[in-house]
Amino acid sequence: MTVAERTLSSPHSTAASLRPSPLLIRGLTKRYGDTEVVRGIDLELRAGECFTLLGPNGAGKTTTLRCALGLTAPDAGEIRLCGEAVPERAREARMRVGIVPQMDNLDPDFTCAENLLVYGRYFGLSDAEIKTRIPDLLAFAGLENKRNARIQSLSGGMKRRLTLARALINQPELLVLDEPTTGLDPQARHLIWDRLKQLIRSGTTVLLTTHFMDEAERLSDQLAILDGGRMLAGGSPREVIAEHIEPQVVEVFGDWNGHDLPAGGGAAAWASAHAAALSDRFEISGETAFCYLHDAAPLLAHLAAQRGLRYLHRPANLEDVFLKLTGRDLRD
Ligand code: ADP
Repeated sequence: MTVAERTLSSPHSTAASLRPSPLLIRGLTKRYGDTEVVRGIDLELRAGECFTLLGPNGAGKTTTLRCALGLTAPDAGEIRLCGEAVPERAREARMRVGIVPQMDNLDPDFTCAENLLVYGRYFGLSDAEIKTRIPDLLAFAGLENKRNARIQSLSGGMKRRLTLARALINQPELLVLDEPTTGLDPQARHLIWDRLKQLIRSGTTVLLTTHFMDEAERLSDQLAILDGGRMLAGGSPREVIAEHIEPQVVEVFGDWNGHDLPAGGGAAAWASAHAAALSDRFEISGETAFCYLHDAAPLLAHLAAQRGLRYLHRPANLEDVFLKLTGRDLRD
């Protein structure tokens, strides 16, 4: 058995489908002042799966997580976390949950190993028990040789991995991560994804929030797209794409000196005059025309006849659904 397998062989790794839902939410509502920031959310996690809350800034993802964990009091709704009613028994429920917050909150005065030790004590674990878990957790985080390193000396990616390892100290039934890879460079993100995939494969249930489509698409068994405190779509990534958007996309873009261009043209303007009618749905954003289609063949034949026109043909993805449902306007 490898170190990682040993770390991950949690008591929760068998017969996922037989286990009760680690998180059930019905009709969750939360108001700040006059604004309802969560408006009647329902969701049900299946044991052993990764569930992602996907949405633009301000959609209500963090508030939903905080209510689920009993850290923010809801105005209405029913929450069961690891079988316990929240907020009434949130403390008991949280003992069986691992939490990776949006901002790393490792203790800068302690070493990596000491951070794990101190955190483990919150869960009532003995020092001896924690010390047996520390080597595996450091190995899982790829930080074996940083055992005695101070937190300030770690890179952003290392801190994230240590925070993730720390969240596993109590062998949680459910691991909750709030935007786990925001602010990380691509290499560090891939490393976090690898670790999360290992955990999911080992049977840990994972709930995460993100605004990265690729993260949601790679990791999730189920996802929900939130905006304005409402759930706009839900299901597996594939189901969400199939339900909400045409299956094929042709993007027409760039400067183009072709004939028959309207004044001030460019390829997108040409497409507006010539490709929109061959598309099921058509949108322009910046210098790109997006043609959404069930059958792209007639449009592609037409485009192929335009010498030098730049375009690409691809299957629809989660980002297309996200932009269709939440719009292309900038969010602060
Ligand atoms: P997300 O995580 O999707 O970015 P949040 O759940 O953090 O969204 O926020 C949803 C909305 O609730 C935002 O408009 C935010 O400004 C507001 N909000 C969040 N927390 C508070 C708070 N403690 N007090 C007042 N407004 C808040």
